[in-house]
Parts: sequence; structure tokens; C-alpha cells
Amino acid sequence: MDSTTATAELGWTVYPVSGSSDNSWEEVSGYDEHMNTIRTYQVCNVFDSNQNNWVRTKYIRRRGAQRIHVEMKFSVRDCSSIPNVPGSCKETFNLYYYESDSDTATRTSPAWMENPWIKVDTIAADESFSQVDLGGRVMKINTEVRSFGPVSKNGFYLAFQDYGGCMSLIAVRVFYRKCPRIITNGALFQETLSGAESTSLVAARGVCIPNAEEVDVPIKLYCNGDGEWMVPIGRCMCKAGNEVVENGTVCRACPSGFFKPTQGDEACMQCPINSRTTSEGAINCVCRNGYYRTDSDPLQMPCTTVPSAPQAVISSVNETSVMLEWMPPRDSGGREDVVYNIICKSCGGGRGGCTRCGDNVQFLPRQLGLTESRVYISDLLAHTQYTFEVQAVNGVSDQSPYSPQYASVNITTNQAAPSTVSIMHQVSRTVDSITLSWSQPDQPNGVILDYELQYYEKDQSEYNSTTVRSQTNTAVIRGLKSGSIYVFQVRARTVAGFGRYSGKLYFQTMTEEEYNTSIQEKLPLIIGSAAAGLVFLIALVVIIIVCNRRGFDRGDSEYTDKLQHYTSGHMSPGMKIYIDPFTYEDPNEAVREFAKEIDISCVKIEQVIGAGEFGEVCSGNLKLPGKREMFVAIKTLKSGYTEKQRRDFLSEASIMGQFDHPNVIHLEGVVTKSSPVMIITEFMENGSLDTFLRQNDGQFTVIQLVGMLRGIASGMKYLADMNYVHRDLAARNILVNSNLVCKVSDFGLSRFLEDDTSDPTYTSALGGKIPIRWTAPEAIQYRKFTSASDVWSYGIVMWEVMSYGERPYWDMTNQDVINAIEQDYRLPPPMDCPSALHQLMLDCWQKDRNNRPKFSQIVNNLDKMIRNPNTLKAMTPLSSGVHLPLLDRSIPDFSTFSTVDEWLDAIKMGQYKENFASSDFSTFDVVSQMTME
Ligand code: AMP
Repeated sequence: MDSTTATAELGWTVYPVSGSSDNSWEEVSGYDEHMNTIRTYQVCNVFDSNQNNWVRTKYIRRRGAQRIHVEMKFSVRDCSSIPNVPGSCKETFNLYYYESDSDTATRTSPAWMENPWIKVDTIAADESFSQVDLGGRVMKINTEVRSFGPVSKNGFYLAFQDYGGCMSLIAVRVFYRKCPRIITNGALFQETLSGAESTSLVAARGVCIPNAEEVDVPIKLYCNGDGEWMVPIGRCMCKAGNEVVENGTVCRACPSGFFKPTQGDEACMQCPINSRTTSEGAINCVCRNGYYRTDSDPLQMPCTTVPSAPQAVISSVNETSVMLEWMPPRDSGGREDVVYNIICKSCGGGRGGCTRCGDNVQFLPRQLGLTESRVYISDLLAHTQYTFEVQAVNGVSDQSPYSPQYASVNITTNQAAPSTVSIMHQVSRTVDSITLSWSQPDQPNGVILDYELQYYEKDQSEYNSTTVRSQTNTAVIRGLKSGSIYVFQVRARTVAGFGRYSGKLYFQTMTEEEYNTSIQEKLPLIIGSAAAGLVFLIALVVIIIVCNRRGFDRGDSEYTDKLQHYTSGHMSPGMKIYIDPFTYEDPNEAVREFAKEIDISCVKIEQVIGAGEFGEVCSGNLKLPGKREMFVAIKTLKSGYTEKQRRDFLSEASIMGQFDHPNVIHLEGVVTKSSPVMIITEFMENGSLDTFLRQNDGQFTVIQLVGMLRGIASGMKYLADMNYVHRDLAARNILVNSNLVCKVSDFGLSRFLEDDTSDPTYTSALGGKIPIRWTAPEAIQYRKFTSASDVWSYGIVMWEVMSYGERPYWDMTNQDVINAIEQDYRLPPPMDCPSALHQLMLDCWQKDRNNRPKFSQIVNNLDKMIRNPNTLKAMTPLSSGVHLPLLDRSIPDFSTFSTVDEWLDAIKMGQYKENFASSDFSTFDVVSQMTME
């Protein structure tokens, strides 16, 4: 309400009613300081005492306000300036208010007194005036503001009480305070009225403006008594794709060609080069066709493209190697991560087309991802055309639908000599001859014309060496001195000339004494028809035993250990190495590291399938969360175990858990947190290999058997590459699944450590148990367990497989086996065993462990046999006179017997006398010429 804006009479209610004897407030027109017409109320009854003059405004609506402010402009006459004024003269007046829900006031109601009226204040003039100038217009105008509250009814009246002053109420303005609608901190706050007290703070909730989102909540402002916003809390910020404009009051979508990736106050950015927006409000810019971005490229970075081809590739060929060098591409695609890949194709191989090079080609430093612009390529074939493509690729190449751009270069390799022969071993020996065989060089670089073998006596000078040529990779060197050590080297020759000599190998001829002893002791090599085969094998055993009892002994040459086997084998860098769990201070730590803990609730045991060393072995199901249920084998640790037994039992899991190969049994995990403790592995439907073969005697083709052997060798190669020595490789420790896949298992170490001789397979030797029949002599004698001793055991496994689970060395005692091996006897080929396989067994049983093949060679060898089944056709003709190495001591010596029957009796084969007689084997002459048939 503002009295100054009134255009007509104010018409306020006056008490006492004007016109009575005592003049009360009187409405008078006047002028304000700007000479605008205003309506005022005046009173001036200073000479009459007991004045009580009221003037009441009209009803004023509250409009939600809680505190009301009243601004009064007035002038007051200075009492002292009025001559003869009585002491009752006043220079103040009182301000009152009265609340009412409606305009119900009358001339008499509310009563003209404090209570019902509520007094706000007594208002005094700051300045009173003492005289009126001629125009009566010069007055001192006071302005006072008072406020009151809380008010709660729909409206109120104000009243001004004069009690004896001379004054003029020039203007009255009634108002309340409010904080205005405002947009601040990204949020809109609606108009908010101040509180009831001047110190009140009224909280107001803000709402994010369109396209903004809260950053901190709640979003608040407080409206104070003066109608000012204060204490901002929380805020909103423009969403990604929108920027703040118009003084922070609007979030506007980024215009086309601009983007903003995140929420915040920053402005939209222009799309980087080679990118564009697809609509307004973009949060990123998409790359133009043919341009890309990697996941790690920042959005502000220009989009990039694939590099152009490398430039100026030059090649320099050196025999079968080539050095390629090139210049970086003209256009890197806008990136700095250009690398190069080399694609090698050999051309002209027969039909004129080009084919990708094989794995054997070597690239230095590597074939793919070259950071330098050069590469050295070796081990190419001699005399062959190659095309090399040098591809340039960068971080976005794999996003391009097109293959990388490349520059190519054609080269033709030169003639090159063959590479070095890497493996040579002794096949057999006599007093004056040694038979050697060796492998082809890895890189023949052409057709091998022949080999040159150079040898000399170890004590002689190398200049006195003799050379012999051989068209095959074997040679019999005759005319040697007995009991002498010779040094041998071999090299291959092609049209390009000789390759380099192999490393030196030492082999020794037999001494006369050795030879004589062996001749005397020789007994017939057991031969016979397939039906009589077993008889002869048993006879062989007897012979071996007899020989042994007679003290047949030949000490190792002093050079045995020096007879080095040269091999170029190397270990690939980065190869994983097996870690012995017992090297952990706390073996439980090894279990935790290598074996996954399985919750027992995932395991369902079905039935007992076998007896393990520590408890039952069961079959069952394993259902891991998120995986398909699978059939598993569960080894349990029987209750009442000692801490050591638990450790030993779990050590197998810590070992198995380190392996990952299709021919090594796979560990699923362990249960150690509940009882019984379990080791859970994949399930192998056909159980252990030895039993499986015995149950299926004669049921498989040779190729199937070789396939099984190949699997075992491959698993063993993997273990050997990991530096793991099994020590107990035997058919009983191979498991077979439903697809006939063989897997190496049984990694428990405990049986070697515990002194428990209840199992006759394992004999205590030097404080540890050893499976004598499967173990290499050096491992039995001085516990030299190596991958080479595993190779020996592998040979025995081959024999077990080819004989469908026959017991190696039949019922010979362990001691007899040891003695027989010491005397160079070896197991004969099982029935129907291809000679190539028996030869491989014999290689595995080389006395000198360095002469035994490596598992990788065994795998290759078996692969070749599988690829060329013809090589498996040949069976060993026992009587052919060919030196069957290590069996050749078994030529029968009948000198002590006068008849065949007597001899059969002597070897406890009397029951076969009739068979011999009916087949006309009645003289030693005929017997000694028996063939396998
Ligand atoms: P071990 O303690 O490894 O000698 O196991 C004892 C026997 O349980 C073996 O000879 C097998 O017959 C059987 N066995 C062990 N592991 C498995 C498996 N993963 N699958 C099937 N049978 C198994």
C-alpha cells in the first residue's frame, strides 16, 4: 500500500469523528517535495490536553507476507517553537496494527486503544521544525520505517495515534520483503518471501535448469529478512553436449561442428580435424570416412588414418638370409605409432604360385610389430625366390576394412651349404668297429649328396684324422683299435658344398677282454615262431639271470661320462619354468598360488573308482558358478592324516596346477577349506593306461598305439620344457580318456620320499623309493634324475604300450633287471612291434643319457611314422644278423649242452620239448637259425 499513489481521497477512518469540537486527524491535500499532489493526514491540537486522535488505514491484505514493513514520512512541529504551548505538547505519535481475516472494522470497532491494537512503536521525529515559511512548504520531513510480524491473518489495519502533537503524516507505504525468482549455480529458485523475523532465513530448493544436472545435492539458497538470497548450497552443471551461456542461466546444446564430452562449465569445443558432428548437442565428433580413433586416443585428437606403404625397400641377400631396409611411409596417417609387419612368401615352388613361408624362417628382431625400419631374415631355403611384403600399420590399421599398404621386394636366395648335423649317436660297436647314425641337418638347403665323417683317435692329433663318405646317415667305421676312444664329427654336402662339422663326439670300441667275455657268455638270441615267442623271451630272462650270477660284469669306461652328446637344442626365451612347491617356506602358499580353491558345495561325489596313495579316488560332478557342469575325478585325503601327509598330498596339486597341456592331466582345483581335503582333476574315462591296454589286448592298430605314444611324448616334452622331471613315468601313471587321448599324471612326490616298501614297484634305494624297471641306470645308481632319465622311462612306456601292458622284464627280480641293464641287455621288441619303434625304444635306453633322444625329437619321430605308416611295416627280423644293438649279446651258446632237450631242461623250458621236436628243431644248428615265423 502506498498512500502517495492514491488518486482520490484516502478515506481513512478517524477517531474521534472529525468535525467534533476537538479536531482529530484530518485528510488534507498537499504536495510532496517533488511538487506532486499527495494526500496527507494532519493533526495539531497542542493547546488542548488529553488528546487521543486515531486514524486507521483501510484493510490491507497480507498476501503471504509474514513480516510487514511500514515506511512513514511525516513532519512534526517543534513544541518549543509554539508560543505559550502547554507542557502536554507532544512531538511523537504511536503506530499500531490490528490483524483480521476480513475487512470487518467499523467506526467503533476495533476499540481505539492498545489491545485490541498492537503497538508497533512510538515514532519520534529525527527533526522537528519550528516555523513555516511563507509558502508553508518548508518542512523537515522525517522518514521512519518499522516492521512487525509474524502476521498470519488474511489482512490487517494500521493506526496512527496522536496524543497532543502537531504533525503531518505525509506518506505511508506498507510492504513486505521477498527474494526474487533467480537462476544461479545452474538452478532456478522461485520467488521466496522473507521470514517472520528480520533474522529469519527461509530455505528455498532450486531445480536444475533444462539440460543441466546436479553436481552436488541438495541445491539450496536461503532468503534473508532483507529479501536477499544467501548461503548457496549445491549446484547444477550443463550436461555433456551442452554449454552454459547467457550469464550462466541457460544450458545450450553445442552447435553443429562443436562437442562437449563431459558435464561441466567448459565451453563446447570445435570438432578436431577429420571429424564432424551428426547433430547438435554432440558429446563427441565422429571420424570422417576412412579416419579412425583408437580406444586410447583422446576425443580432442584429430581422427587418423592408416599409413601409406613403406618406401624404398632394399634387400641384401647373403646366401639364405636377407636384410631388408626401408624408409618410413610418406604418410603416417597422422599417427606416431607406425610399425611394420613382414609377410614372407616363397615363390616358384613348383606350380609357380607363391605360398606363405613356414614357421622355420627366422626374423630378427621379429616378424610383426617392427619399430625399426629393418629386419634380418634367415633360415630361408637356398636357391628359392621369395617375395617379402613390408606392411606399414598403425594403431588404427585394424579398424580399416582394407589390408595394410605394403611395399614388396622379390629376392632369390643363393646357394647355401647345409646346416650342421645336430644329433649323432652310436648304434653299436665291436672291438674294431663302431656303427654311428645321425640326423639330417635342420636346414639341408638342397638335396644332400652325401655325408663326410671325420674321425681320429682321441689321443692322436686331429691332423691325423680319417674321413669316410656315406650316402646315408649311418656309417660303420671299421679297422679301429680295440678299447680306444675315437673322436667323430660329421658334415653334410649338397651342390652348394659342405656344411659345417658337427660338434665332436667320443665313442669307444670294445676291449678284447670285453669282447671275449661277451663271446663266452653269449647265449642264443631267442628266436622262434610267434607262438613260441614267449618261451624265448622267458629264456632270454633266464640267460640274463645266469649271466649275471656268473659275475658277468663290465665296468664303465672311464670316459663314459665324457662321451658327450652334441646337441644344438636351446630353450625358447620366456618359457615357463616349473617351481617346486617344496621351495616355498610354507607349502600352503604354493597350493594357494597354483591351485584354485573350490567350494565343496560345487562338488558332487558319485562313486569310488580307485585307491590313491592318500585315500579314495572318486568320480563325480563339478559345477562351478557360470560354467557348465563337468565330470571330474576327485582324489581325497583320508581322515586322520598328519600335517606332513596333507602337505605331501596337496603338493601334487601345486605341481599339476602349474601345467597346461592337452597331454598333461588338468587340475580343476582343490578343496582345502572343508573336510575331506580333495584334489579335483578332469575325468579320464578309460582310467590308467596299463590296465586299459591289458583289458584291450590286441585291439588297436599300430597307428592308434603310436598315436597314444605321441600324446605321451608331447606331454613329456611340455614337462621337460618346463624343467619338470617326472621320475615316475610309467603306463600306470598315464590316464586315458574316452577319445584315447593319453595324459601324463601322478605328480606326487611322496612315494619317492617315504620309506614304505609295501609296493614292490618302488624299491628303496639310497633313502628313496625308485620304480626300478622304469628308471634309468644313472638315476638308480646315483639318483641322477633328469629329463633324459624320463626319456628312458618313456622307452619303457613304449614297450608297455606295444606289448599291451606286459610287465617290463616280466617276473625278473629288480636286482636282476639292474644287472641285466648294466650288462647292456635291453628289452626285445614286443610281438608285432615295428622295428622303427623298437629302435626308438633302444635309443631311449642308451646308457649314456646324453645319447638319448630329447622328447621333442621323439615327438617328431613319431609324427613322421604317423605320416608315413609304411615306416611301421618293417618288423625286426630277430635272426637276420643285423646288429640289434644291445641285444646282440644273446647269440646262443650251446657248447655246454649235448641235445636241444637238455638245453630246454636247463632253461626250465622242458615242457616245450615236443613243440621243438615236432617242428624239427632237433639240432642246435637248426635252432640257431630259427626265424620269427
Ligand atoms: P593315483 O593316486 O593317481 O594313482 O590314482 C589312483 C587311481 O585312480 C588311478 O590308477 C586311476 O585308476 C584312478 N584315477 C586317478 N585319477 C583319475 C582321473 N583323473 N580320471 C579317472 N580315473 C582316475
